[in-house]
Amino acid sequence: MQRSVDTIIIGAGPGGLACAKLLAENNRQVLVLERKQIIGPKVCAGGITWSGLLRHVPEELIEQAFPEQSIFSNLQKIKISEPEPIVATINRKILGQWMARAAADAGATIETGVTVRKITADHVVVQYTDGKVRTIGYTHLVGADGSTSMVRRFLKISTDKMGIGINYQINGTCTDMEWHLNTKMFGSGYGWIFPHRDTISIGAYGDQHNLPAAELKKRLLAWAAEKGYDLSRQQARAALVNYDFQGFSFGPVLLVGDAAGLASGLTGEGIYPAIITGEAVAKKIIDPDYPADEITAMAKKQLQHQKVIRIAAIHPWLCSLLMEWLVFLLRIKLLDFHALEMAD
Ligand SMILES: Cc1cc2nc3c(=O)[nH]c(=O)nc-3n(C[C@H](O)[C@H](O)[C@H](O)COP(=O)(O)OP(=O)(O)OC[C@H]3O[C@@H](n4cnc5c(N)ncnc54)[C@H](O)[C@@H]3O)c2cc1C
Repeated sequence: MQRSVDTIIIGAGPGGLACAKLLAENNRQVLVLERKQIIGPKVCAGGITWSGLLRHVPEELIEQAFPEQSIFSNLQKIKISEPEPIVATINRKILGQWMARAAADAGATIETGVTVRKITADHVVVQYTDGKVRTIGYTHLVGADGSTSMVRRFLKISTDKMGIGINYQINGTCTDMEWHLNTKMFGSGYGWIFPHRDTISIGAYGDQHNLPAAELKKRLLAWAAEKGYDLSRQQARAALVNYDFQGFSFGPVLLVGDAAGLASGLTGEGIYPAIITGEAVAKKIIDPDYPADEITAMAKKQLQHQKVIRIAAIHPWLCSLLMEWLVFLLRIKLLDFHALEMAD
């Protein structure tokens, strides 16, 4: 062993950084290992909700905020509005840099350009960009390494429930935040148009089992063209969204965010769940008796979202009926938009 630390966190996404900050604030020795050189950038539409992260980030991080949401199904078009912004957009690089600064200021050590290659019961083997390999011992290991988590594989936890999202970030501006529950194109998923400050996120999300990535991309390009956006020469970026939660605490090894499978399978929302689980895992490391009720509540919310996906998967007409029903309930205000969010 070349060195040893109390807690190693693999991954400097929102989950890992939230965990690191809280541990460091409680005087725990914490080392965050991130394979990317720059913290923050991640395939993402950058949507954050009022009940979730929106009220907890400084105003300058908000790119645009939307008190109105335009929702389209195959047959309906509705606009819901509230006095406060319902969803806002953020830039993931700026969010990541802000969170990394806060964790470092609290005393966490963050190393970038370091890829964890191997995990054992008491140490990890890491490789630096110059090719050097080192072993680092740990007392606690936190897997905050995203939807294809190596820590999850080390724990031998299978991952079956997986969403897939494709994002195009194009230059330009537009005014409305749009959700398109177009079941012919995206099944139980949706297409989105999320305006940022001087770019627009256009993308689609679907269930990996029903819509393989190549097919989702083909449909997204066709759908965007109908909306007047030619994406054929733009750079697509795709990533998986793990929503297969099977627990988060496994002795000295704990899972956070997408690695724990705590994103929403229905909407793909995962930034806020990652932050909440990151903080809960830090509390669990500080006090092993900590009940982590916030994770239980989040898992319950996620199960409700899964029920919708399960019903929608039975038959395409049932999927269309369900989405029309959801939009109708939103229209007559019997369903609150916040029920579709991961925060309570
Ligand atoms: C197209 C798309 C759009 C999305 N839009 C939204 C949205 O609008 N709003 C929302 O809330 N969520 C959205 N999500 C989901 C959101 O991006 C994730 O849920 C969130 O980033 C999860 O955070 P995390 O900290 O768990 O993991 P991540 O953000 O994935 O961070 C994991 C980190 O671990 C690092 N890592 C992985 N393996 C290793 C290793 N072996 N060694 C070292 N480092 C490693 C990675 O480089 C990465 O930085 C979207 C997802 C996709 C795919």
